[in-house]
Amino acid sequence: MRTILVVGGGYAGFYTAWKLEKKLRRDEARVIVVDPRPYMTYQPFLPEVVAGSVEARHAAVSLRRHLRKTKLINGSVTKIDHAHRTVVVQPAVGEDYPLSYDILVVTAGAVTRKFAIPGVTEHAIGMKHVEEAVAIRDRLLTAFDQAATLEQGPERQRLLTATFVGGGFSGVEGFGELLSLAQSLVKKYPEIHREELSFHLVEAQGRILPEVTDGPGKWVVDQLEKRGGHVHLNAQLRSAADGHIVLSTGDEFDSELIVWTAGNGANPLVDNHTDLPVNARGQLMVRADLRIGTDAEPIEDAWAAGDDAAVPDLAVPGAATVPNAQHAVRQGKLLAKNLIAALRGGRVKAYKHASLGVVATLGLGRGIFQWHGIVIKGFPAWLMHRGYHVLAVPTWERKVRVLAVWTTAAVFGRDIVSLASVQHPRRAFETGGEPVRASVGDRG
Ligand SMILES: Cc1cc2nc3c(=O)[nH]c(=O)nc-3n(C[C@H](O)[C@H](O)[C@H](O)COP(=O)(O)OP(=O)(O)OC[C@H]3O[C@@H](n4cnc5c(N)ncnc54)[C@H](O)[C@@H]3O)c2cc1C
Repeated sequence: MRTILVVGGGYAGFYTAWKLEKKLRRDEARVIVVDPRPYMTYQPFLPEVVAGSVEARHAAVSLRRHLRKTKLINGSVTKIDHAHRTVVVQPAVGEDYPLSYDILVVTAGAVTRKFAIPGVTEHAIGMKHVEEAVAIRDRLLTAFDQAATLEQGPERQRLLTATFVGGGFSGVEGFGELLSLAQSLVKKYPEIHREELSFHLVEAQGRILPEVTDGPGKWVVDQLEKRGGHVHLNAQLRSAADGHIVLSTGDEFDSELIVWTAGNGANPLVDNHTDLPVNARGQLMVRADLRIGTDAEPIEDAWAAGDDAAVPDLAVPGAATVPNAQHAVRQGKLLAKNLIAALRGGRVKAYKHASLGVVATLGLGRGIFQWHGIVIKGFPAWLMHRGYHVLAVPTWERKVRVLAVWTTAAVFGRDIVSLASVQHPRRAFETGGEPVRASVGDRG
């Protein structure tokens, strides 16, 4: 029996393992997935987690619940030695150990791309993981609670200031959703005025959302500005030291929240710790059939898909597929089919997918959709965004949970309580008075 090892159970890895479970014969191969997280993150829901429109747990698709025949290892792969068909696993608890396999699938995704800018490491937060989205929301809610107790002045202004760096998809969606949450909060905080909110989106290029054309991109900027947001185009962050933002345009201000959404960086495992071929951008070199290697030199028993792989885009000659979920899902499914076909001596297929267009949320009730020349703006696009993602999130169980939260929020509004205190769960216990000396006969 062969061992298929899947490194990373995110979008591409989850779908690969799911499909393998369905298609493999019982005695054909066993599947192992290694991931430090016990769930696949449905990243397109993170902006709505930020806004409190999707429950954090609903953006986390449990691997154990849905991959019932797969062996799951809670840990990270720190090295791939494909020549010896071995990886090193760093488990969540305990010593590192080698793990052998017959066939490798690398779907470890990308990491948040960072730049050495003063203060960013200390003060900024990413938006790629559930805990980051939850923290962004809680920080804003806590800032409102604190600002409401202060007189107007610099400290109150700092608390009501949020800055997103990076005007790509996740930055614009996160910015739009957080702005929407902040504006709805103002109605619940009579002490705070809408004009006091200071929300900044910083983008180094002259336009945002590179996936849409210039006209719709400009419309999104106008939309965000009409709602009170400040969009800084052709602006680079020079410093965020002590939470004080300095832009290349000369603008300066203090910001309570600094959210870093400046795109994908190479996964360190792929970039530095493997003998597999990697391109200059730190992505695995992958053929159109999702085998690692080149057409001339395919690597035996090694496959890859998703954000960590430079898969040729046969729909856009000369380009690699862009890092998005649309591709990761489809590549994961095809990878499983091709892997099984190769196991059985059958024919593999080349990956080809023409984009279905892009759809983004810009906050509750607002969105943008574009497919070639067709552009839909505002409420209909937002409905399309929700409709698409509730259908796309894997498993019916998730769809129903997300729909239930949307429905209750439509009737009662979203929850507006900060649970930042979960970061310090023992504080109330520790500070809750002096211990009483226990004596025989005491209860408890
Ligand atoms: C906020 C946000 C919104 C987005 N919205 C959209 C959208 O609306 N539409 C769209 O098409 N795309 C969207 N994307 C992009 C999309 O989510 C990604 O392209 C997709 O998740 C990539 O899938 P992947 O499997 O390659 O990587 P991931 O889904 O990131 O999965 C990688 C997995 O590998 C694991 N891993 C990492 N390193 C190791 C290691 N060393 N060992 C073991 N496991 C490891 C990680 O824990 C993770 O579970 C969004 C992204 C973000 C951040």
